[in-house]
Amino acid sequence: MFYINENFLRLQDSYLFSTIAKKVSKFQEENPDKKIIKLGIGDVTKPIVPAVLKAMHKAVDEIGTSEGFKGYGPEQGYDFLRKAIAENDYKGLNIDESEIFVSDGAKCDCGNIVDIFDENSKIAITDPVYPVYLDTNVMGGRSGEFNKETGKYENIVYLPVRSENNFVPELPKEKVDVIYLCFPNNPTGTVLTKEELKKFVDYAKENKVLILFDSAYEAFITEPNIPHSIYEIEGAKEVAIEFRSFSKTAGFTGVRCAFAVVPNELFGYTKSGEKVSLNKLWNRRVTTKFNGVSYVVQRGAEAVYSEEGRKEIKENIKYYLDNAKIIREGLKEAGFTVYGGVSSPYIWLKVPDGMKSWEFFDMLLEKANVVGTPGSGFGPCGEGYFRLTAFGTKENSIEAIRRIKEVM
Ligand SMILES: *Cc1c(COP(=O)(O)O)cnc(C)c1O
Repeated sequence: MFYINENFLRLQDSYLFSTIAKKVSKFQEENPDKKIIKLGIGDVTKPIVPAVLKAMHKAVDEIGTSEGFKGYGPEQGYDFLRKAIAENDYKGLNIDESEIFVSDGAKCDCGNIVDIFDENSKIAITDPVYPVYLDTNVMGGRSGEFNKETGKYENIVYLPVRSENNFVPELPKEKVDVIYLCFPNNPTGTVLTKEELKKFVDYAKENKVLILFDSAYEAFITEPNIPHSIYEIEGAKEVAIEFRSFSKTAGFTGVRCAFAVVPNELFGYTKSGEKVSLNKLWNRRVTTKFNGVSYVVQRGAEAVYSEEGRKEIKENIKYYLDNAKIIREGLKEAGFTVYGGVSSPYIWLKVPDGMKSWEFFDMLLEKANVVGTPGSGFGPCGEGYFRLTAFGTKENSIEAIRRIKEVM
């Protein structure tokens, strides 16, 4: 008899994006003349920049020659890319190449890292949250049942992130083993200052807690005193794994390349109190289950750090941030309370009093023909909020705001 992993049955079907798609296509069918603007997507739209393309083309030609052919590469990534990451992203932070693991995505890394957790590890996530952190732990059996009334899983610790606490999560009140943090945050677009993040690092040191820090959006940071890496905080190498990705930074959502940093100073413990290097554990996991990112893609990622690449990518990020400003300022003028959108491509708005996130979605679709994402889809504390993204075109961002102003 084949028994399944019944933890999967606890997962709640995510109706979020499929419900949005259904509602949008139904509206379009009934209103074929209406031009719908989609500001719901969390995907970039600008093409791959020339410097990266050039490097990838060159690599393609190289592997077509006997001298340049590449078979299996190192599972952890080629030295040239690990070195470029250490020297550029972690300049002055003393991160060694051996601490960097190149991968095909931060989503996969965040999901796979649970392999090294104890099956009973107590997990803390922020609420609202990027669903991957939660669902992968549910699959791994680290949650209890889903409570339909609260919208939460039993045995998972939820740290609210909302206007009442200025979108700064409080330290967990109960004992936890792992804390997931993502800043600049998806979906709220808000950030943590160095002092705010330091509280988590200090807490983790004191309580031997592992922090998983997702900095997929660090390239969007425009404000001072906002850490790009958790390793800017003293002592963080002893408590934190960091995830980064070329997806939002360099438009690699389709090309696929990311990395995890697992410092050599980072340890976990066995039940008998023995210290075990997480870098060694993760290395074992990666070499066993992964065969590396393609050479061509890694050469493309390396070019992100070239002078040309850097300049070109900066322009794209500026384009998205300009859209974010258009949306943020426009919404304010329309009378909304808005968060995020300064060091992030996400704008998180408070829906009008007395409205639910989904009601606001329907209203915006029907009256302004603008699509966003209901905050309640990211967790119970997202109720009453709504996410718009700056990944569209400038023209559409302007037009969307014009329409929203008209109907408010
Ligand atoms: C987009 C995103 C990522 C990047 O995922 P990839 O698999 O590298 O494309 C990671 N974390 C968050 C929170 C994201 O929104």
